Formats: sequence, structure tokens, C-alpha cells
Amino acid sequence: MSVAALPAAVRVIVRSWVNANHVVFLGSGPAALIDAGHVCGADETLERVGDALGERPLARLLLTHCHSDHMGGCARVRARFGCRIAVPEGDVAAIRAWDTEALWLDYAGQMAEPFPVDDVIRPGERLELGNLEWDVIPAPGHDMGAVVFWNPSARILISGDALWEQGFGIVLPGEGWRDRFAAARDCLHRLRALRPLVVIPGHGQPFADANSAIDRCLARIDVFERDEPRLARHALQVMVAYSLMQHDGLAEPEALRRFAAVPMFVEYAREYFGQPPYDVVSELLKSLLAKGAVTRGTDGLLRAR
Ligand SMILES: [Zn+2]
Repeated sequence: MSVAALPAAVRVIVRSWVNANHVVFLGSGPAALIDAGHVCGADETLERVGDALGERPLARLLLTHCHSDHMGGCARVRARFGCRIAVPEGDVAAIRAWDTEALWLDYAGQMAEPFPVDDVIRPGERLELGNLEWDVIPAPGHDMGAVVFWNPSARILISGDALWEQGFGIVLPGEGWRDRFAAARDCLHRLRALRPLVVIPGHGQPFADANSAIDRCLARIDVFERDEPRLARHALQVMVAYSLMQHDGLAEPEALRRFAAVPMFVEYAREYFGQPPYDVVSELLKSLLAKGAVTRGTDGLLRAR
């Protein structure tokens, strides 16, 4: 099966970076949605998911995992469509407690709106979505509670942030980081063994060559596992880019002031760089500007590309 030949009941809405992709399940049963996008992209989410649904009600919203770009828009989606929200078992406690450190929110300078958990998604269970059966497979690493959804008959994998065509969601340094990488590596081997024909990732276009993508991920793990400070630097760069996207640009002094006060930046500056957070952020912005990952607009604002 080619990427173009996904079943008609499975609609993929590919978003730009600060929002995760959506997968809408139609067919004759109740309609469902995987991943809600970021709160700052919620207007577009409601419009595009609404277009895909047409007149159908949305019964369920399921999450691959609980980071701001996947769950930040849940409250808005629920308010519009009246759907139940299902959260992977491993993330339920953090959502119910609205643990902003575990969810990488205030701790990492990210935003989301709280929402209720109606149902729990349990690894090992089988769900029917879009008239197809989907196995829930645990996918720890980037988020230790994450799951992916696997349809064995058409060999379709909905991979969240466990596997993209060019990489995977960041694994944070700090206590337990080697265990997180071991889990991510093990997960990639398990996903390879499924031999997917199509992967629908949390970010980027659906793709067919899972093997090459998995090879690229494993190579990145090898690099980061040798160098925790490099991993810390990469994590901060990702958070800078995400913060700039969710604010739709910030003036440089404002960006420096904000990021230097984010707990994750303060902690990493101390642990990995032995420098004041302001200096670390200033150097990070300089290097992101130099490589074009961040640009300065004609309005003077910094934006991530
Ligand atoms: Zn994520």
C-alpha cells in the first residue's frame, strides 16, 4: 500500500510544527480523532477537523502522549465537539494532577489548557477506529507513557513522536536519561519488527520507508548517548524554537528575559554548562540565528522556522 492509498476512513491532517498532526477516523462507526494539536493552533484545528467530520459528531479524542503540541488543544476540541478524551495510562496521573513539570509545560516554557480524562488507553488493548482494528502498543522514550496505534491488516502505524521520517521527539537528559534512551531504542526495534507499510507520524507527512527512518533514529540515539551536554543543548534549542512558535515571534530582549527564567533553562545552565542561564540562552539564540533555524523578521521579531 502506498502512502496515497490510506483507507478512505482514515484522514490525516498534516500540521506545521508547533501543532501535532491529526488523524480523523470516519467510516460507519462513531468518529474519532487522534491528537488535538497545540492550544495556539486550536482555531485551525477546529476548522480542519470540523471539515473532515462534516455532519458527523466526534465521539472520541485519543492521545498518543501528553505534550503541549499533542494535547494543548484538547479542551478546545472537547468544548466544540463534545467528545470524550482518552489518555494513555502512563500519562493519566500527570494530566489529572496537571503536573506542569512532568508535562513539560511551565517547566519547559510551554503552554496548554487543562482538560478532564474521560477514558484510559491501556497498552495491549485493541480499539476499533474508522472500521479498522488498532492495537495499542507502548512507546516509551520521548514520553515514558506514550503509545502508538497499529493496524495489523493494512500495516499502518500511527507513531506520534516515537518515530518521524527524520528523527523522533527529544529525550531529555538528567536522572534516568539512559533508561529513556534504552526504552526508545527498544521501541524502535519493536516498531521495525511490525514491518509497517505506512507510518503516520506526529509531525511531517506520512511515509512508507520505516526502515530507513528507524536507522536514522538509532544513529541519533548513538550520538546523544555519548554526550549528555550535547543532548541538553539540543533539548534547549528545541524548546526555544517551540516557544518562539507558540508566541508567533518575540523581540530578542523579551526572548532572552523569558527563556532565562524558564526552570528547565535555569537547571540545564547550572548542570551542563556552568554558566548563568541568560548567557546560555544568548549563545543558543546566536547559534540558531547563524544556522537559519531562527530568523529575525522585518518587524524585528525572532521566529523559528
Ligand atoms: Zn511529544
